[in-house]
Amino acid sequence: MIIEEITLYHLSLPFVSPFRFSHGELKSHDCLIVAVKSDGLTGWGECPVFPNPCYTYETLKTASHILTDFLIPQILGKNLTSPSHCFAFWGNIRGHNMAKAGVECALWDLFAKSENLPLYKLLGGKRQRIPVGVSISLQDSLSGLLEVVESYLSMGYRRVKLKISPDFCLLPLQTIRHRYPNLLLMADANCTFTLDDINLFLALEELNLLMIEQPFAYNDILDHAKLQSLIKTPVCLDESINSPHDTRIAILLQAARAINLKVSRVGGITNALAIHHLCQEAGIKLWCGGMLESGIGRAINLHIASLPNFVFPADISASSRYFAQDIITQPFVLNSDDSTIDVPQGIGIGVEVDWDCFSRFVVSQQTFS
Ligand SMILES: [Mg+2]
Repeated sequence: MIIEEITLYHLSLPFVSPFRFSHGELKSHDCLIVAVKSDGLTGWGECPVFPNPCYTYETLKTASHILTDFLIPQILGKNLTSPSHCFAFWGNIRGHNMAKAGVECALWDLFAKSENLPLYKLLGGKRQRIPVGVSISLQDSLSGLLEVVESYLSMGYRRVKLKISPDFCLLPLQTIRHRYPNLLLMADANCTFTLDDINLFLALEELNLLMIEQPFAYNDILDHAKLQSLIKTPVCLDESINSPHDTRIAILLQAARAINLKVSRVGGITNALAIHHLCQEAGIKLWCGGMLESGIGRAINLHIASLPNFVFPADISASSRYFAQDIITQPFVLNSDDSTIDVPQGIGIGVEVDWDCFSRFVVSQQTFS
């Protein structure tokens, strides 16, 4: 397909409530949306990068720069034979996975539409309902925390992930476990601990956590392997896995029993598929994480999560958990009977942009043709 036109939108979607995590607070989802046109079709992708380099080194400004000055010009006008073909034109661009994923996912949507298929079928996915959980940010009090957990359970969510930090860890997790002995409960540390905290991780063993996500540095695999050898609770890697190569190292070192796979963090669907297959072979279970995406990125996550080795519930909550107003015509809702969200069944990513809402949240846009 000849890439005729690409439009890059900077969108700012207000959250229903601020999202607090160990590195700060976000009041809105500022992201880049990519629309790629070819042969009368439009493919959509999302680059859900944060304003600060606190999750990966990328920011809204770096992603915008890399997209505008390198990624987009280097594929514009080119005849691509598959979505992954874009990497042949990007060989001189190192890193910047989130910026790449924005375009690459749009290409997958475009190619799925050209084949008249829902994206998940093109990827080899089978499931049409994705088990999901909810991620709870740091809270000011234990009573407030229990109220938040209770409210999500009453909505139908069956798995709770708690963001933890050195100041907010053992007691909050004990409090939730005491109240809900059978809840699927896990913790995400976002890189805020070290191996010196080993006694804390040993104390967490009796809480029967589903997993502990990324306790150590964003670029560490070695210390995670040491921790996994010392505790029974599965260690999950998130920030440390940015490529199939990282995955091979983690497998070799037995650094984790689970991986939180985010399409945007690993540079798009091509790498996500490669990581999926590597982990499936090695017996490492996956789940699909989220970057607070709009309906476009959320749809892409649901399609990838339909693959068979996505075993644990995904961090893909209903649109209303994040936004009063999403940018798609049919926001995602939770099936409260089984804590799932449906994979869109339309062609491509299967969602339609709600242009009234979309245009209200556009901060800036630029078209390349
Ligand atoms: Mg995480």
